[in-house]
Parts: sequence; structure tokens; C-alpha cells
Amino acid sequence: MRNSPLHLYVHIPFCIHKCPYCDFNSHVRQSPPWTAYQQALLRELAHWSAQRQYAGRPIQTVFFGGGTPSLAPPSLIQSVLETAALLFPVKQDAEITLEANPGTAEAERFANYRNAGINRLSMGVQSFDDKELKWLERIHSGHEAIAAYNMARNAGFEQISLDLMYGLPDQSIETWMHHLEQVVSLAPEHVSCYQLTVEPHTQLAIRHKQTPFHLPGEDLSLDFLMQTRERLAQAGYAAYEISNFSKPGMRCHHNDGYWQYHDYIGIGAGAAGKWDRPDSGIIRYSNMRSPEAYIKSASEAGSAINSREQLSAPQAAAESVWLGLRRTDGISRHCFNDRFGCDIHELFASSLDLWEENGCVERTDTLLKLTAKGLGLADSIAASVLQTVVQKEEDCQSALNFEPLRQ
Ligand code: SF4
Repeated sequence: MRNSPLHLYVHIPFCIHKCPYCDFNSHVRQSPPWTAYQQALLRELAHWSAQRQYAGRPIQTVFFGGGTPSLAPPSLIQSVLETAALLFPVKQDAEITLEANPGTAEAERFANYRNAGINRLSMGVQSFDDKELKWLERIHSGHEAIAAYNMARNAGFEQISLDLMYGLPDQSIETWMHHLEQVVSLAPEHVSCYQLTVEPHTQLAIRHKQTPFHLPGEDLSLDFLMQTRERLAQAGYAAYEISNFSKPGMRCHHNDGYWQYHDYIGIGAGAAGKWDRPDSGIIRYSNMRSPEAYIKSASEAGSAINSREQLSAPQAAAESVWLGLRRTDGISRHCFNDRFGCDIHELFASSLDLWEENGCVERTDTLLKLTAKGLGLADSIAASVLQTVVQKEEDCQSALNFEPLRQ
């Protein structure tokens, strides 16, 4: 996006155990090669800082995701942050998040992460029920999750986010609401609630195929979502994205940047980055997924790109709609017009009109957003917008007055 803010994502790919539902780039290693991984990260950071599309641009947020970043030595986190601050103008009050597992061993390091520069913790609690946690093969208990939360507070974290998962096999809404009550009583600044999905090629997909388990259908899923929104709203958490809720002023600015189609640098195994380019539109890259291959390539060559693609203007426009509709603020028609040189509704009328008639999309003079009904169908709506592009790429292309970022 023109003059788009820039964000930095750092991937830490190591985990103690592979959760069966996980399709993230995570690798179980008994002794992760921390020293080599740190060197590779620093080398890659230096590489990107010298590239024209990123050089000298202020970094708004930093996010350490994984994998399990809370397994990393605090010295690794500190050195990445110090190097980033040397190579880029990092915004003074930048949001700097670390994803953490609520195991006791990791929690003991929270104060050190705080001292290293982390100012926001995102904890993957998923459930407070030990039976559910066992089914998900998480390595912590409900009691440990609460203890880790308290340790984070004692370590001085003023911004904590809790991740929870609903829609587990045969989970009732009543059980789920019980977890939400526990969240409300802990009073984190931010809550993410994701529905369990069976991703292809995961252990869970194999398990499901062998012994099918019962997952909620469309109506029940929407019920989970609406009751979650209602309870969290009562407790002072505003929904600002389909699955994300925050106290006033406590959004995750890093993720909000993705949904607003900002530029970002991704470093680490399997990390992805994106930028607008003056002469050729939007470029997206992703790194090698294997930690060992990543270390070798980034250490030797400074980068470890596995794939790189250039998005056409219609693809970029559709992707920005797909991401932007996830936000409850919706998409500013003015900003879209400014960015892509045409009206969002005109461009995607063939799919959006239908959703509008069905009460899923709301259009005003200034905004396009999902209605409450549309929230539960966001993926289908996004798919139909993307389908418009596939079917009518040529028409879309000529409708767009694509004017990429000038740097
Ligand atoms: S801890 Fe997170 S990243 Fe690691 S395997 Fe489990 S879900 Fe995946």
C-alpha cells in the first residue's frame, strides 16, 4: 500500500512436541541450534535492511511467532531487537510481541524477555480443561496456564493476549462459556478465539480419517462465535477482527497491519514478507521451511528465499479485500480507491451484490464491511471475491488504475 507502514516478523520454528492440529512451520528438536539460528537471523536482517524496498523505513511493530518463541534464549531475542534497532528506525513505542507457551519452564523466562525488550506476550492457552488439553496434545495443564499468566503479570507485562480454541469435538457452548468466564476473570488486554479446524496433512486429519470425530456444523459454529462476541463485549472487549477482541486501545497492531495489507519483512525459517514495488506491483516471498536449510542459506548468502511471486493488480486488490473484510472496521472505500484507482464495489460487484442481498455485506458511501451474519461466512465471501478475479482477471485488470508504491 502506498506509504504503507512496515512491520517485522521473526519466526522461531522449534517446538517441544508437534500438536496434532498444527500446520504451522514448526519442528521438534531436542536441542535447537540456537547460536547458528541467531546468526542466520541477524544475517538475514542485515540483508533486508540493505534492500531498496525496505531500507530506512520505520518499523512499526515486531512479532516473534512460531513454533514456540518462548523456548528461545532471551539473549537471542535481545540480539535480534538490538540489531533491528541498529539497521532500521524502529518506532520508539513499537509493539513488540512474543508468542509464549504457558509451560512453567518458559514462564520462568518471562522477566528476561521483558528485559530483552518484549512488551507484549501472546499466550497459547487453547483451553483450561485438562481433558481438552490432553486431546489437543498440549504440554501444559489448565492450572499451569493460569500460573503462567500470573507469572507474566508479575514479570511486568502490561499487555497480555490469550489464545483459545473452540469447537472441539463434542464441546458444548456451555463448556466453552466456562472457559470464557475464566478468561474474563484473568482480565488480559487481548483475547483471540479460533475455531478448531482440521487442516490437511496434519496428524489430526489422519486421526479424523481413521476414527471420525464430531465437529460443529455451520449453525453451531456461528452460535459459538456470536455468544463469544456477546460475552466478551459485556466484559469490555471489542471485536476488531473475526477472531480477535481487545480492551480499548489494545489491538494487536502487528496483525492489524497484515489485515490492512501493510508491508512486512519476515525473517526466519518459513517466514514470509511482502512489499509494493514501483515498477512491478506487489512482491511476496517466503523462506525455506527447514530450519537447517534456512540456517545454511541465510548464513552463507544472507537470504533463504524458497519462493517469490508477483501479484497482479487484480490479485492484490482481491487479497486486500479478503484480508480487510476480516476487520470489523471494514474497508475504507476511499483508501481502496486511492490505492487501486477504482471503486471496490464496482470491481467486485458480481460477487459482493449477492452477499449484500443476503444480508452478509453492508455498504455505505464510505465503507464496505461484513454484517454479523457475514462474519460466520467470511471464508466463503472471501473465496467468491477471489473467484471473481480468477474468472475475470482481464476485465479486472483493465478496470484498475494500478499505481504502485513510490519509494
Ligand atoms: S506449540 Fe504451536 S507451533 Fe508448536 S506444534 Fe503446537 S500449535 Fe504448532
